[in-house]
Amino acid sequence: MLDSISAPQIKGMFIAGQWRPSQATFDDINPSDGSIYARIPDGGREDTRAAIEAAQAAFPDWSGLMFQERARTLLKIADIWEKRAPDYVAAAQSEGGGWFGKGMFEAGYVAEVFRAAAAHCYDTIGEVLPSEHGKYSTALRVPMGVVGVISPWNMPGILTARGFAFPMAAGNTIVLKPSEDTPYAGGLFFAEVLEEAGVPAGVFNVITCSRERVSDMGEELVEHPLVKGISFTGSTPVGRQIAARAGAHLKKCCVELGGKDSLIVLDDADMERATSAASFGSFMHQGQICMSVEKVLVQESIYPEFLRQFTARAGKLKTGNVADKGNVIGPLINDRQVARVKHQIEDALAKGAKAVLGGNVQGRFVEPTILTNVTPDMDVWRDETFGPVAVVVPFRTDAEAVALNNDTEYGLSAGIITSDEQRAMRISQQLETGMCHVNCSSINDEPHVPFGGSKASGLGRHGGKWSMETFTETRWITFDRGHRPYPPVF
Ligand code: NAD
Repeated sequence: MLDSISAPQIKGMFIAGQWRPSQATFDDINPSDGSIYARIPDGGREDTRAAIEAAQAAFPDWSGLMFQERARTLLKIADIWEKRAPDYVAAAQSEGGGWFGKGMFEAGYVAEVFRAAAAHCYDTIGEVLPSEHGKYSTALRVPMGVVGVISPWNMPGILTARGFAFPMAAGNTIVLKPSEDTPYAGGLFFAEVLEEAGVPAGVFNVITCSRERVSDMGEELVEHPLVKGISFTGSTPVGRQIAARAGAHLKKCCVELGGKDSLIVLDDADMERATSAASFGSFMHQGQICMSVEKVLVQESIYPEFLRQFTARAGKLKTGNVADKGNVIGPLINDRQVARVKHQIEDALAKGAKAVLGGNVQGRFVEPTILTNVTPDMDVWRDETFGPVAVVVPFRTDAEAVALNNDTEYGLSAGIITSDEQRAMRISQQLETGMCHVNCSSINDEPHVPFGGSKASGLGRHGGKWSMETFTETRWITFDRGHRPYPPVF
């Protein structure tokens, strides 16, 4: 049964505590049925500059506030977010094409991001160092100023909140540019919540634009001299450009990018755990999670039985319009993503792969697909798919599993299923990934952990104290008490 979900009222971009309407708008599409979900302001450089200047104007007061005040504000945001969770879930379903359960999970998680950020307001803010001159020598962490946050569409709640909550807790002010595919759930909805929480004007600003104007807005946001730090979550090609541009201006930048993650199933694995981890890891949110399992590497002796059980389990997932809560597999977010996934399936089948499940693409809906007989010359082996497609590949030895995992430019996360933790530890140490989870799928996140990848999966870490380190500067400040002597010639 389809739930009826009402569209949000879009009041404009949110700059300096005011809703700023725009003459130009772009259509924000519901990917399940192609209808227009909302009309969103199509902003440009001028709006970006206005938001940056508002954030800069708000910086002295926000960074000068007592830390408990900042914590209280973040806790209030968490409470209001929780109160409005049903609205978020509805938006994530209609605008983001996500299953109801995925929206519920995100809504709960985001409140915890704000609470974890509030807790960091009470953290130590520096260290005292020994001094050969008897000085009182300190290393202090201080906020940077304006932080630009660019977020993606796939987990618009979590990945947006994670991008700005910790920098804001540290005393920075924010200009957020959400994805053009989820400008409400990942942007303007946050503005509504933070406005209701009484966040002072200019501390948090949201600007929006269409894909056609994003390079202008992005360039301004990264290059403007008042912007001191960048938090970017998105694709590797765009992340490379952002990091290069930030680097040219010697700005701090944390980029969380794409992945091609493996689930390694060893011969001593619990089959129930292995198949559920593979199914959840590959098909949750249609595989549109940066940590999705895209390669399932299975030890040869259990390969046939694993494939049989994995296929049976995944075959039960229902695909369709997510306004029906029973549809766990919704649409892909846009036609660009559909084309990419379709190409990878067709390329693989043409080169000899076999679809043991799915393989069909209808409009924006792609059935859960399991491919075997995959070889390294197929695009699906190496390129990020970001769709509900898992390749299942047998391996003989642990060393071979490691080599198959590492055979990619990406290095985000991995999962290992085994009953032998020692063996898992040995393997995990050889995986070229930023994260690894034993007896779990590669999809794992918590607000306070060091989240991030290696190789082409990103630079820097988001989450908890790692975000606090990224979005503060360290200053060395000393107090001379021992009267450091100068050479007498002076
Ligand atoms: P994307 O790179 O196309 O877009 C990400 C954000 O960048 C959006 O807000 C977009 O508007 C903006 N953007 C695009 N071009 C820009 C430009 N020239 N200048 C400034 N901003 C620009 O990625 P996407 O399609 O939204 O997200 C999917 C990708 O994100 C996947 O590759 C996925 O793996 C990755 N991702 C990574 C993580 C992680 O934490 N590592 C999490 C989620 C998604």
